Amino acid sequence: MARDLSQGGLMVQIREVRAGYMNIKLKQPFTIALGTVSEARNVVVEIETDQGHRGWGEAAPMTLVTGDFQEGILQAVLGYLRPLLLGQDPRQIARISATMDRVLQGNYGARVAVEIALFDLLGKIYGMPLYVLWGGHDNTFESDYTIGMDEPQIMASRVEPLLEQGYRILKVKVGENGQKDLKRVAAVAEAASGRASLRLDANQGWTVKEAIATIKAMEKYNLELVEEPIPRGNLDGLALIRQRVNIPIMADETVFSPRDALEVIKRGAADLINIKLMKAGGLLAARKIDALAATAGMECMVGCMIESRLSITAAAHLVASSPNITRADLDAPGFLVSDPVSGGAEFKGGVCTLPERPGLGLELDRQAVEFFDQPHSR
Ligand SMILES: [Mg+2]
Repeated sequence: MARDLSQGGLMVQIREVRAGYMNIKLKQPFTIALGTVSEARNVVVEIETDQGHRGWGEAAPMTLVTGDFQEGILQAVLGYLRPLLLGQDPRQIARISATMDRVLQGNYGARVAVEIALFDLLGKIYGMPLYVLWGGHDNTFESDYTIGMDEPQIMASRVEPLLEQGYRILKVKVGENGQKDLKRVAAVAEAASGRASLRLDANQGWTVKEAIATIKAMEKYNLELVEEPIPRGNLDGLALIRQRVNIPIMADETVFSPRDALEVIKRGAADLINIKLMKAGGLLAARKIDALAATAGMECMVGCMIESRLSITAAAHLVASSPNITRADLDAPGFLVSDPVSGGAEFKGGVCTLPERPGLGLELDRQAVEFFDQPHSR
């Protein structure tokens, strides 16, 4: 039974939970060291209250990284989570989240999509933008834009158009092999010629020795950071690389949960952490990672999978709410051929601004989603 939390006797109950497929093609295939993606095959969750509020969330399965996938997320939401949610007070997010943790292992996408929708509802019920509800920090920040892995000259040719659009931070995908990656970074650095700050992401592609040699050879390019240089979970290897090179090391795939973050902190295995909602399995867990990192004196970035502006807006609220989140990699909406959202986080040349509207502050084009309210097979 949902307890009445408010003094004034306001009762809110979840009346309906829907989930649906949202497929959006990419403008061009996106390649990282782990593989290539050409379409976002995401899931949207819609939660409706008996007061007529509607909250939305999104899951973006990156099977290569998280192991979840579109059909599984839809079934997890409708088959496992919907029965738990119906009749609950959507404001009791911590309690609902703890229940989801208990009944559903893994399935980060399903859990985070539900949690985003609940926070959207919370903001709407109380008339506050999410980042304000979380304490407020700033409603604007800068995001990078990612250049996928390709031949060095093709990657270099992507630089000028991005600079013209106003991007000042570029993230460069590498991790195929050290020698070729050096050529990629040299070509991109030459094209940028000091006009953009460069971040690198090897997506687990190097060995420890290769990472140390390659990163040392790249020090002259003044790189801001290198993400996930070696296969994830090798904390001793990460700590060794971190000791040997002069570029800050960021943990991404190595840190899914707050527990992972704690381990990285204890072992001195990274300088920075990349938080992603789709890895953390929730906004509450994401905020715990940031709190742990901040306590340890470690700054965070918020990154993304191939997400639409729906969950990207949730991630943007997270960035805007925390002074410890000093970097953002929320470029995925720019990869997609269409945008199912109006309002929400607006991006202009890498500068993201959040609107003064309740919850996520966006409207979803429901035509972009094939909704179901019951588990099904096709
Ligand atoms: Mg990464």
